[in-house]
Amino acid sequence: MEEEISAAGVNEILKDAEDLKGHVLSNSYVEYEWKDCRILRDYSDSFWRMLGYKSRESFQSDTDGHVILCIDRVEGLRVRGEIEKAAKNSPDGFYQVVFFAKDHCGQNHEFVECGHVENDNGTTIYRAQILDVTPIYKMREAMTHRLTTDDVTGLPNMDRFYQAVRSLISQHPDVPFEIMTMDIDRFRVINDLFGMETGNRLLRFFGSFFANVNLAMSVFGHIHADKFVMCYPSNETNRARFVQSLQRLAESFPLDYRIMVRFGVYCVRDTEQPVSVMCDRASLALRKAKSTKDDVCCEYDEGVRQRLLDEQIIINTMENALHNNEYVVLYQPKFDLKTERVVGAEALVRWQHPTEGFVPPGRFIPVLENTGFIYKLDQYVWEKTCQFLRDERDKGYTPPPISVNVSRIDLYHRDIIHVLALLVTKYDIPTRLLELEITESAYMDNPEQMISLVTKLHEEGFTILMDDFGSGYSSLNMLRDLPVDLLKLDLRFLENGGSDGRGGSIISSIVGISEQLNMPVIAEGVETRTQADFLRTIKCDYGQGFYFSRPVSEEKYRQMLMADRTGSKTV
Ligand code: C2E
Ligand code: CA
Ligand code: CA
Repeated sequence: MEEEISAAGVNEILKDAEDLKGHVLSNSYVEYEWKDCRILRDYSDSFWRMLGYKSRESFQSDTDGHVILCIDRVEGLRVRGEIEKAAKNSPDGFYQVVFFAKDHCGQNHEFVECGHVENDNGTTIYRAQILDVTPIYKMREAMTHRLTTDDVTGLPNMDRFYQAVRSLISQHPDVPFEIMTMDIDRFRVINDLFGMETGNRLLRFFGSFFANVNLAMSVFGHIHADKFVMCYPSNETNRARFVQSLQRLAESFPLDYRIMVRFGVYCVRDTEQPVSVMCDRASLALRKAKSTKDDVCCEYDEGVRQRLLDEQIIINTMENALHNNEYVVLYQPKFDLKTERVVGAEALVRWQHPTEGFVPPGRFIPVLENTGFIYKLDQYVWEKTCQFLRDERDKGYTPPPISVNVSRIDLYHRDIIHVLALLVTKYDIPTRLLELEITESAYMDNPEQMISLVTKLHEEGFTILMDDFGSGYSSLNMLRDLPVDLLKLDLRFLENGGSDGRGGSIISSIVGISEQLNMPVIAEGVETRTQADFLRTIKCDYGQGFYFSRPVSEEKYRQMLMADRTGSKTV
């Protein structure tokens, strides 16, 4: 979204310049006399012709007025003052001023008056040439407009927004303002998946919202890619209204993808601060909102800066980390609750950063999702998992399946089925050994697409696990529509650790429903013996959690499998 004048724009300007040549030359000469603020001799007819009247008389018959009627009062006073000052300061009486006047249709014209003033016995006589330079003015306006307007949305671009905020704040020194930035979650992904034109359509969709907002003392702009900015009087109502309206608007955009928007707010305290700094701070708050799962709108505070520096380190180093083998895959075993034997594992990634040390996935996965890089990392984890399974089989064992996490972003890559199928073929392992964990929130992003994808993955022979089941709002609908094989229920979502009270009832109901649907349940986050016992009593099938085992290295998991096979429980 660079500020450039397009080729068509340049041609238009050149054409305006062509027209200009004839126009200026055809303009006119005037002479008038002035005494004690009264015009004695009026402007010549050619001046009136420039304003679209035939003569002074026709101007009078149309308006019954004076030349001042053509000139805005404030503008008139300014021009008069300027002429008097210029004439006084000029040693030889020459002066030049620029002013605006309205033609007979009410359109503004820009004039340049070059004149000479002399004093004749108390009468001031002005002899001047007044040129109508409206085409130049229009050309300048058009250029300014082009240079300060965003091509896609028609909203003010960054420079014009900054100027508008500066003048808004200085015109109303007693009003507290805030700057809010908004951006579209994973806009890059939307562009990649649905094409630039869809991306632009989405931007125009928001652009027309801002163009039609009717709120006093507010300005809006589109400053970069998918980033919109607002400045308005700071109060809870305004902020909440913008957040709600824009969220609703985002959800109403007709696309097979749930569009989400997030907001960052900076309350202007120091009005002398450059507007760019105010906007940067709102953007930092926005990035904070983007890096957390739950906050839609964050306000700037000093802690925000540090968090974002951390995030930038991740972005700068994430790709090299893959080449340097800094991502490590751990396996967290899953247990049959009845027999307490290992029935498989989940592959969980870790990052051994050379300077930052151990970075847990919660810190870098959301960043990788926002940049789209997660697809590469996930493919790496899937491949490592397949290698491990191959290795076990090469040693003559029949390892239980391992589930891998499939990010909601991965699901939008059209080649995902092909990529997964290729992996199991390459390592020559049965497809059922590589299980796929898909989160419930991915289903909420785009239910239809998910149903179709899961159906196809099923046809390929993959087992699908519904991860984080119960964390969203559409769990029951999803159970009805989505052909998943197994539910993963996170005990940490439920009150009281899930072993009693409402949490316990919810778990046992879910286990009951899934039994009827012939869909096994695995409880995640099992931390205590009490929880494990409770799960057994309600006939939950499987468990995974620190009570049984933390995620362990490949070597350790290999040993656990070995111990399980030989029946020794020493590990
Ligand atoms: P998840 O898929 O729900 O994974 C389970 C998380 O719970 C893991 O955290 C695991 O270490 C943790 N956990 C397991 N048992 C317990 C327990 O008893 N108590 C507690 N408090 N926690 C337990 P981890 O490894 O930090 O992963 C966090 C999240 O990051 C994962 O949640 C998953 O969403 C994501 N993630 C991890 N690895 C990958 C990956 O390779 N690809 C993708 N796309 N996401 C991943
Ligand atoms: Ca998982
Ligand atoms: Ca989970």
